[in-house]
Amino acid sequence: MAVSQVFDAVIVGAGAIGAACALKLAHTQPKAKIAIVERGSMLDAELGENLRVWALGEVATQLLSDVGVFQQLDAAACFPYSRMVVWDENSEGELSFSAQEFDRDALGHMVDASFCTQILQQQLSCTSNITSFFSTQVDAMEQHKGSRRLILDNDAIATKLVIAADGAQSSIRKMAKVFAPTKSYEQRGIVAKIRSEQAHKDTAWQRFLATGPLAVLPLADNYSSIVWSASELEASELMACDQTQFESRLQGALENRLGGIELMSERFAFPLTSRQAETYYQPGLVLIGDAAHSIHPLAGQGANLGFKDVAALVEILSHSKDWRDPAALAKYQRLRRPDNLQTDFLMTSLHLAYLNNSPWWSLARGRGMNWLTQNATIKDWLARQGMGL
Ligand SMILES: Cc1cc2nc3c(=O)[nH]c(=O)nc-3n(C[C@H](O)[C@H](O)[C@H](O)COP(=O)(O)OP(=O)(O)OC[C@H]3O[C@@H](n4cnc5c(N)ncnc54)[C@H](O)[C@@H]3O)c2cc1C
Repeated sequence: MAVSQVFDAVIVGAGAIGAACALKLAHTQPKAKIAIVERGSMLDAELGENLRVWALGEVATQLLSDVGVFQQLDAAACFPYSRMVVWDENSEGELSFSAQEFDRDALGHMVDASFCTQILQQQLSCTSNITSFFSTQVDAMEQHKGSRRLILDNDAIATKLVIAADGAQSSIRKMAKVFAPTKSYEQRGIVAKIRSEQAHKDTAWQRFLATGPLAVLPLADNYSSIVWSASELEASELMACDQTQFESRLQGALENRLGGIELMSERFAFPLTSRQAETYYQPGLVLIGDAAHSIHPLAGQGANLGFKDVAALVEILSHSKDWRDPAALAKYQRLRRPDNLQTDFLMTSLHLAYLNNSPWWSLARGRGMNWLTQNATIKDWLARQGMGL
């Protein structure tokens, strides 16, 4: 099939990470010709929220500001949180962080993922050097004389650089034969919106239960979003029980810290896996976001890592004369892969540390948490990880 258009870069996937990458690249390089291909239709306000909320740190919110999106998130879609409390079902350990301790107004922002992605996608059509192909599938990718060709539904386009942002099941990654071993946590994450009898006090609550972590993320009007990671068996029970039973199990799991709980939405369950691509680049191809790495959501870092990939890649490309230059893509991998692997390792270690409930281990864990609360250096490091810095 003949090529109809040639672009400097083609981003595949207009989720939050792909759309943010297209916008940031287009703003930084106004002369570059950029395309974005998304198999779904453009997100629509009518579709409403998908219940997923991201706890975004500074790098992510700065990037969203740079592309004019953060300013458009209203109070219902973006809520600053100023405290975090972590405690353990099987020990006396408790860890807490407050923005005040770090001389900040907030530790981060809880952002409605669906609303944020919707605004990012709207911005694409307002940016003159971006061509968007929605409801368009990439059927094949070919290498041709130093460029890549993408075969779309009824079209073919060519580019110097394909940026794969097509999520954890990335078909571009598979077409490029990049291996990305998957680890299953044998858990599911249940997400829902709730309201609590007592004020959430702008606090992100996280309790490590014997069967997995439960996070309660504060939103406007005393709503919260929960991510309850549970074993397959417990997740099936939690999904099957009626509203009143679910509310009372949640209230119990939170040790009544927020008082009575009212379920304000449906519940959705996601299988929890982690996946790391063995390489982030090939000639004319680079992976970002969940296409390159996906991790356990226990500390809410997945999207943060993706936004950091975007910031690093765009910075490197803006200093590179040829976007195919393997040295530039290798630099991107050097900058981002160790951070992503380290975060994945940290999440897996925390997951395992809290699943082990032998008495000695629980005692040591509780003492360790209390010691961390008093150790300024380590606490500062942990807080910086949590704030996505
Ligand atoms: C339960 C749960 C809770 C989470 N909580 C948090 C949190 O609190 N904080 C946080 O930072 N992260 C969190 N995450 C992780 C976060 O949601 C992901 O890291 C983030 O959504 C990844 O964005 P992405 O744009 O890379 O991928 P996606 O959102 O998956 O987007 C990929 C896009 O590519 C498109 N696409 C796919 N294939 C093709 C193709 N062949 N052609 C064209 N388009 C294609 C898809 O339609 C989609 O629009 C959580 C994850 C889970 C499962």
